[in-house]
Amino acid sequence: MTDPASLADRVQEGELRIHELEAEADFDTAAEARRLLVERETDADLETIGDYAFPAERAEPNIENMIGAAQVPLGVVGPVAVSGGAADGEHYLPLATTEGALLASVNRGLSVIRSADGADARVTKNGMTRAPVFRVDGVAEAAETVEWVEDNLEALREAAESTTSHGELLGVEPYVVGDSVYLRFAYDTKDAMGMNMATIATEAACEVVEGETPASLVALSGNLCSDKKPAAINAVEGRGRSVTADVVIPGDLVEDRLHTTAEAIVEANTRKNLVGSAKAGSLGFNAHAANVVGAAFLATGQDEAQVVEGANAITTMDTRNAEDGATDLYASVSMASLEVGTVGGGTKLPTQSEALDVLGLRGGGDPAGSNADALAEIIAVGALAGELSLLAALASNHLASAHEDLGR
Ligand code: NAP
Repeated sequence: MTDPASLADRVQEGELRIHELEAEADFDTAAEARRLLVERETDADLETIGDYAFPAERAEPNIENMIGAAQVPLGVVGPVAVSGGAADGEHYLPLATTEGALLASVNRGLSVIRSADGADARVTKNGMTRAPVFRVDGVAEAAETVEWVEDNLEALREAAESTTSHGELLGVEPYVVGDSVYLRFAYDTKDAMGMNMATIATEAACEVVEGETPASLVALSGNLCSDKKPAAINAVEGRGRSVTADVVIPGDLVEDRLHTTAEAIVEANTRKNLVGSAKAGSLGFNAHAANVVGAAFLATGQDEAQVVEGANAITTMDTRNAEDGATDLYASVSMASLEVGTVGGGTKLPTQSEALDVLGLRGGGDPAGSNADALAEIIAVGALAGELSLLAALASNHLASAHEDLGR
């Protein structure tokens, strides 16, 4: 029987396991059977979770034990005015969040950036990393392994690149700790975020290392990568895209639209984002870059756990003396490790690919890598807008009243 109720009965009777339902029925029926099961066992009503708008089959590579979809409100901010290495012109940026006032705040910053003739943005470094850990006898074998790796980069490149038609090995950085050797492989993964691609390529390269050196592979990821953990190595060396956005805002715009002065914003940034973050031992020296990164990741199908390193940003603000004697504001956000893609992973999901269409960035770019670069640049300008708006609100002391006005 493949009706949802009978399938749920069979799981409850122990005849079938919950993850085996897709073998018995189509994906939507399997999800419905699972919902019924959960409803019976928890008394929850899953009507809205079950009211999703795409065939469950389309989510197959992205989820197991599917029961429906989490529907997070999605809005747009902008247009984002950007002059980038890859992104150019004006783009609406889709953001999915549950935090009221976030889009209003980012939108205010973007409107000021537009009035200031837009922001510049550039990807200054690009490399998705995977760092396997090997066991050796001691430091003598470790040194022998490192020397072989340094002398045989071409052999490693050949093995790694045999697994992908897009990925390119950029380099391998060795680290030794006692009898452990870590090799941090970095790849240009073009328009893919690249974590699967880099992992598969690195596995092939590891076979060569094991064949030619005394090192034995212990784990394909030795955490020096470093994926989904707050880590200084990503802040220093970068991971995925390292991207900076900046803008100069004329002093009169700061006063008319942000209701404060360049000096007050610079002071708020220095005392809060720089000194306060240093005192806290923070990895990120920013006000709330994670808000824009998280909301853009959810909207466009990025791996949301990588908000951990994606939000690793430094915000700088400075005064600039204008020719007319005014004091302008220079503002920048530098994101060390923004891991984004426009192909692969969650980007293929129906709502997420529609959101990438809003940006004009669905799928592979021409040249390959340019769509992911453009996405990184636009997110960076969005984060810059968020920083400007929040710091201006703090500087003008109206943060609390803004939240009150929006009913929160
Ligand atoms: P993927 O969907 O596994 O691979 C991307 C695919 O797109 C590749 O097969 C590539 O083909 C193809 N491709 C087509 N056009 C491309 C273009 N213009 N640029 C780049 N590639 C192009 O995605 P991924 O980005 O490598 O990995 C993302 C997924 O990994 C996410 O679902 C994420 O959640 C997951 N993840 C995995 C790990 C892990 O350790 N494995 C860790 C964290 C996250 P070719 O390779 O043949 O060129």
